[in-house]
Amino acid sequence: MEDISKTMQEMMSKRHLNRNYRQLMDQAFADPEVTAFIQANQADLAEDVLARSASKIYEFVTERDKVRQGGQTFATGYEPRLIVANHLLDVAYVPTAATMEKQAQQQLQRRVRAIAMPKDIRNAELDNFDNDNDRMEALMAATEFIDNYENSPHHRHQALYLSGSFGVGKTYLLAAVANQLAADGFSSTLVHFPSFAVEMKNAIAKNGVGDKLDAIKKAPILMIDDIGADAMSAWVRDDVLGVILEYRMQEELPTFFSSNFSMAQLENEHLRISTRGDDEPLKAQRLMQRIRFLAREIVMVGVNRRPQ
Ligand code: ADP
Ligand code: MG
Repeated sequence: MEDISKTMQEMMSKRHLNRNYRQLMDQAFADPEVTAFIQANQADLAEDVLARSASKIYEFVTERDKVRQGGQTFATGYEPRLIVANHLLDVAYVPTAATMEKQAQQQLQRRVRAIAMPKDIRNAELDNFDNDNDRMEALMAATEFIDNYENSPHHRHQALYLSGSFGVGKTYLLAAVANQLAADGFSSTLVHFPSFAVEMKNAIAKNGVGDKLDAIKKAPILMIDDIGADAMSAWVRDDVLGVILEYRMQEELPTFFSSNFSMAQLENEHLRISTRGDDEPLKAQRLMQRIRFLAREIVMVGVNRRPQ
């Protein structure tokens, strides 16, 4: 390795640089990260690397210190790294740990498509799901589904119909399953069914029903949240819900449900009676057959977890 002092002297006089510069460069050359990098890569570096890479060394040290002090480099979210290029030093900009974490998070969020769902479902995690006795069965069924699905995503897997009163954590558990699947690389769609039904009604005027319905119908994993929470018109029941379920049954696509109603209640107190007041037990029965094919019922009990 050349003598730094001598190199500096030569460089400074050649470039008409002043003492201030010298001080800055002395610091940069003495930087532990810089010296360690040069030492580790000595075999690949030119003899006169210090003189020829001085500006890169300076850039590296100043940009790195900016990041350390919480400032921003000229490329936000990136930090400098020394690399060897053509036997000299160069500076590459790589995403910071925080940026990588954010990118990974965004990737995950893209795998969970949420329609009219509360924002806090993003934070739902199986690890944080209270597994008291009341919720154990639901949690075990959920993790079993994930294991089975991930082992053979293209085969039929019966999903879950979570029933139970308001606030026991049905939506939370569905979201936690979706987030776990996302972490493992699988996409799912969660839809708050009553809001979706309204959206579909509004889409009629704009001729948008087909596209919206298609996206839901074909989602690799679908979670229909809060089915039965609002009265359904015959149109929503037969031409929206019925169409979705028919398709998913035929294609054997995993479909979860959550409801304040048990399956029996959903059939007899909800699906049978249209908003017009007609009693249609056969239609209700057909829909329930599809739901039962797609999901098995798990009753969740427990205290209302909603902040009062
Ligand atoms: P449900 O869909 O059954 O009405 P939610 O899933 O919306 O109930 O849960 C109600 C509230 O309690 C939400 O704020 C949710 O984040 C929280 N919650 C539910 N289950 C849990 C849990 N096991 N651990 C932590 N928070 C929970
Ligand atoms: Mg809910």
